[in-house]
Amino acid sequence: MIAPASPGEAQIRTFGERAMRTFTKSNKLDNVLYDVRGPVVDEAARMEECGMNILKLNIGNPAPFGFSAPEEVIFDMRDAIVHSQGYSDSRGIFAARKAIMQYAQIKNIPDVTMKDVYTGNGASELIQLAMNALLNNGDEILIPSPDYPLWTACANLAGGKAVHYLCDEESDWYPDLDDIERKITDRTKAIVIINPNNPTGALYPVEILERIAETARRHELMIFSDEIYDRLVMDGEKHVSIASLAPDLFCVTFSGLSKSHMVCGFRVGWMIFSGNKEIARDYIAGVNMLSNMRLCSNVPGQSIIQTALGGYQSVNEYIVPGGRIFEQRNFIYNALNDIPGISAKRPKAAFYIFPKVDVKKFNITSDTQFALDFLREKRVLFVPGTGFNWHQPDHFRIVYLPQTAILEDAMNKLRAFLEHYHQ
Ligand code: PLP
Repeated sequence: MIAPASPGEAQIRTFGERAMRTFTKSNKLDNVLYDVRGPVVDEAARMEECGMNILKLNIGNPAPFGFSAPEEVIFDMRDAIVHSQGYSDSRGIFAARKAIMQYAQIKNIPDVTMKDVYTGNGASELIQLAMNALLNNGDEILIPSPDYPLWTACANLAGGKAVHYLCDEESDWYPDLDDIERKITDRTKAIVIINPNNPTGALYPVEILERIAETARRHELMIFSDEIYDRLVMDGEKHVSIASLAPDLFCVTFSGLSKSHMVCGFRVGWMIFSGNKEIARDYIAGVNMLSNMRLCSNVPGQSIIQTALGGYQSVNEYIVPGGRIFEQRNFIYNALNDIPGISAKRPKAAFYIFPKVDVKKFNITSDTQFALDFLREKRVLFVPGTGFNWHQPDHFRIVYLPQTAILEDAMNKLRAFLEHYHQ
């Protein structure tokens, strides 16, 4: 039995609702969805306030699960707080941009100079900036479904229209190229790919990337590639940047240190322009203006980029056999597929899995309700699939960052819950 909301809580909610009503009157947030931190998370917070312990499998932040930032990175950050000038060029400090430029060279991303690199307060800030600079009212941009929902939210908030193309579970969650083709109109300006993917954990092979590039070439689309998990690839596979396959196109590649260096809260990200910058001259001018308007990204954060990208990569220990992320991935994949009514593709990268629920078996019509019911009964929190702009109520995302013993407990709870669940 869950305690009812306190009078104070009820009041806060009323204020919140009033504020939302004021917002939505302006229609500004009507088409913006961000359920990764939505109603199910609100309910978990309410339960915690009532003293309950919740296992949070909803947010991809490694720090609470015992993954710590590499020592040398912490040392650099401390040093920068003491010694840095506390301000930088709007694109970022020299050493950071140089290191990112060299990283782009290692990944064979063509024609990247120091001027093509922008640091940001996480990749998130730059995704928003990139969408604001690109989209006029009604302009369309192709975004994967499922997606990391910030992309859709930022595209819509910028006044554009996020048009979702399907990623196909039956084909290891690769983008469905026919669906992409079908959804291109004369208002389509760009295509977004998330590779490696959140929430599916997919890693796209070169052939798929080449075909996406070919489609972009034929329809004169810009390519935005979110590669924040490119250093978290397992099974000996190699990540390839789509920009390296498209020197004749204009590509924007996003990455950062939140995931590979376990420092989400330090807010360190970047974006790189490459390829045919001539065709994107106006766009680049717009980005420069917006970048100047936000002054600069946080300087202590930037100061760790050079150290982080060079030399020994501690993240590599986690993603090989015996490493935590690798072993936890194997565990969660097997455990989920062992539960009657659940199936999941094996993730190849990042730390997410996007299982399918047999909606007929459990009569599920709302995945949010499913997540809420599981949370209330078993005190385990995950994000329903529709939070990732997935069109059916038949998926959910699990973050498999906790130790295997904790994941095992969560999977036992899910199995027990589904033995009787019927919506
Ligand atoms: N892109 C993807 C695909 C993500 O999963 C995330 C965070 O979860 C981000 C971008 C945001 O990263 P940052 O912490 O650099 O803002």
